[in-house]
Amino acid sequence: MSTITAPAEQKIVDEVPKQLYIGGEWRDGAKGTLSVEDPSTGEPLCEVADASTDDAKAALTAAVEAGPEWAAHPPRERGEILRRSFEALIARADDLALLMTLEMGKPLAESKAEIAYAAEFFRWFSEESVRIDGRYSVNSNGQGRVLTMKQPVGPCLLITPWNFPMAMGTRKIGPAIAAGCTTVVKPAQQTPLSMLMLVKILEGAGLPAGVVNLVTASSSSKTMAPLIADSRLRKLSFTGSTEVGRKLMEQASHNLLRLSMELGGNAPFIVFDDADIDAAVQGALIAKMRNIGEACTAANRFHVADKVADQFAEKLAEKMGAMKVGRGTEEGVQVGPLIDNGQRTKVAELVEDALGRGAKAVVGGHARAGAGYFFDPTVLTDIPDDANLLQEEIFGPVAPVKGFADEDEAIAAANNTEYGLVAYVFTNNLKRALRVIERLETGMVGLNQGMVSNAGAPFGGIKQSGFGREGGYEGMEEYLETKYVAVNL
Ligand code: NAP
Repeated sequence: MSTITAPAEQKIVDEVPKQLYIGGEWRDGAKGTLSVEDPSTGEPLCEVADASTDDAKAALTAAVEAGPEWAAHPPRERGEILRRSFEALIARADDLALLMTLEMGKPLAESKAEIAYAAEFFRWFSEESVRIDGRYSVNSNGQGRVLTMKQPVGPCLLITPWNFPMAMGTRKIGPAIAAGCTTVVKPAQQTPLSMLMLVKILEGAGLPAGVVNLVTASSSSKTMAPLIADSRLRKLSFTGSTEVGRKLMEQASHNLLRLSMELGGNAPFIVFDDADIDAAVQGALIAKMRNIGEACTAANRFHVADKVADQFAEKLAEKMGAMKVGRGTEEGVQVGPLIDNGQRTKVAELVEDALGRGAKAVVGGHARAGAGYFFDPTVLTDIPDDANLLQEEIFGPVAPVKGFADEDEAIAAANNTEYGLVAYVFTNNLKRALRVIERLETGMVGLNQGMVSNAGAPFGGIKQSGFGREGGYEGMEEYLETKYVAVNL
């Protein structure tokens, strides 16, 4: 049984190429097909190709063969392919957003925002492709010269998660194309459709065969391990969980691959008593509820000054309790389903654990009955120090609010995690803001705002949230090597 309810849904699902894309050709997977499901119903949407290990190897071979020509391809033309793809993405934003909502569940408006965000990486890196340079300097003793040049890293493997099905792809593919690298892309098996459409758009924009190769697979470990072990591969860029990131890093150590690791988060959201509380609640809604809470940047813990904690929790609960939950395609829906039953069970367990240890639910607290993987927006207070959700990534619409007495306590609580991706700070005191930000152990900070994502900024974490940066000019560096020439003059 299919879950599709409107002709426009069928039309865009039909338009998606369902095969592997290798060396510029669409072809079947040797292992048959794998099913893609609509998380709002749990019913299948369609089938896409299931790659074997040999298919994956063929994709790497295509990337390796296309490598020299692509590295030498005029940077302006590399950029113009990205620019045309940016324009095509924007022109098709409504259809692509519908497709994303069908496979991932987020409300249509959020899918559309992701298409715009994803496209922005192509625009940004289309402009960066012509800014690759080196330097020339005189040695300190006046004898000889230092010459440096930037060269593409070589064939890259790009592995992406399901929560941002397109943007997590464009922020790797964009700089790789701009830098002159060729790639094998492996999207999450739960959301391959957006990436398949993205590759079709790149093909339509004139991307030469072999520069981007796409592999969809039901067994990511079996298909990817031989590629990571293959000495022709030069780099692995991974976005996903810390647990899988650790395994991939171990595998990549054999060939000493260049690595970018965009891993899990456990973002603290800190509100001081001098903050504008209504603005903080507004920021909290974005930091928590964007993407149904399924974002690596999602606020996982709200640390609020004791004086304003009750007021903050009540206002947040009022707003979250009023949000409309449902299929992302329906008018006015603000909260879609979680990605699958496993994710929903994990969220429910974290809530039950906190309630069992003495927390209180101000609003929500339960999974919804019926089809799909819905969970009610939830605000919890009186969080005990040993609640699991203070340490684990919730990845759902659950906001635990915990008070603090002073600045030192807030910072200690915020840093009390193995993760270090992002933190949010709300205060109207500039000196305090900078003092606190300098002591936070994260790669990014949102100051008086609940979102940091921006194609022109370096996105990435520290500690067990990984390393490497995506976006900004730093995003190009991940795909470039520096060669130094000692010039005898
Ligand atoms: P995941 O389970 O780690 O999977 C991510 C990707 O890795 C998927 O394509 C998956 O394929 C693949 N994969 C899983 N095991 C593999 C293996 N042994 N070898 C090779 N590939 C493997 O993560 P997820 O559940 O999709 O995504 C959620 C996580 O991503 C969260 O922890 C979130 O914080 C993190 N994330 C981080 C960022 C960031 O920039 N820091 C951004 C977004 C998300 P399958 O689909 O086949 O499992």
